[in-house]
Amino acid sequence: MTGPLPELLADLRTLVECESPSADLAAVARSADVVARVGTARLGVAPERIVLEGRSHLRWRLGDEPSRVLLLGHHDTVWPLGSLADRPCAVTGPPEAGVLRGPGCFDMKAGLVMAFHAAAGLSGVTILVTGDEELGSPSSRSLIEEEARLAEAVLVLEAAADGGALKTERKGVSLYDVRVTGRAAHAGLEPERGVNATVELAHQVAAVSRLGDADAGTTVTPTAARSGTTTNTVPASGSFAVDVRVRTLAEQDRVDRAMRALRMVLPGAVVEVTGGPNRPPLEAAASAELYARACAVAVRLGLPAPAAAAVGGASDGNFTAGVGTPTLDGLGAVGGGAHADDEHVLVAELPGRTALLRALAQELLARELLAEPTRLLTTSAAARP
Ligand SMILES: [Zn+2]
Repeated sequence: MTGPLPELLADLRTLVECESPSADLAAVARSADVVARVGTARLGVAPERIVLEGRSHLRWRLGDEPSRVLLLGHHDTVWPLGSLADRPCAVTGPPEAGVLRGPGCFDMKAGLVMAFHAAAGLSGVTILVTGDEELGSPSSRSLIEEEARLAEAVLVLEAAADGGALKTERKGVSLYDVRVTGRAAHAGLEPERGVNATVELAHQVAAVSRLGDADAGTTVTPTAARSGTTTNTVPASGSFAVDVRVRTLAEQDRVDRAMRALRMVLPGAVVEVTGGPNRPPLEAAASAELYARACAVAVRLGLPAPAAAAVGGASDGNFTAGVGTPTLDGLGAVGGGAHADDEHVLVAELPGRTALLRALAQELLARELLAEPTRLLTTSAAARP
């Protein structure tokens, strides 16, 4: 093997072999030690260790200039301790065109390794590696948003979509719980004295299921439901959960207002709605310019221009786009099987995608220098008769 590949693979193996299930604080702390060591060896700078609610996050500031580009990743995984025994970290196939497996290799320890190699020697870059993304980032959300506000662009190292596509759009998520309260009565003797929570629930489920808008890409899905106690009692209470996915903030707001405007149908019933927006969408508009630059950079490097993918699942890129910072996601490994038995990384793609990440970051850091001549050219062209 030649080039940077042996070192990329060695670093990746080191990270994968330290298991880091999100909910195990001690395991995540051990993983933070290993990630810090690998990153420091490549970057020549040690990270700050930021522990929030017992969860271990790492932040590198590179160079003396103010930070302009944020590289964002996480080192926790969905795999419980002991997963390595069943699926050891290994490469199968020819060394330079094989497949690497191991818990969390694709989501997203390969992305971390790529960031360390890509950012070595750059100035004006911050690398933030969090330890609770797979839980929805309960302790790191404000840290992520704070760093995103300081940056001009955020490059998210989550794995690529199928075929190496970059993730230019991620749906926002809202979650609700709808509780209905009625009044119990004997279903045989005097049902008319009751207020039937199951019937009220049915009205509300039907109303909620009409809030989706397929053309706008908005889904509103009533999910887990329960009501009542016994077969011969008019139910006194019930509840159901609602999963909302949206492409735009405007749609997230529209659905939120509609959920809060739900009113009881049966006289005497009470409807209460709790919950709300959980992650804002990463809208196509937030990634468009960065995606175009990434494609141009790829072509310049002699790599195929990556496709663009809109995906339903959320990541920390939703938070960075939510504070208004341009964000491009899916810049990590090419492969497949996130959270699944066939999780894998395509070894042959690692060097090229690392080079793409580095060149994109360099171009963003040089942006002011490039913008000036472009503007001058445009002006003189427009001035021509
Ligand atoms: Zn991930």
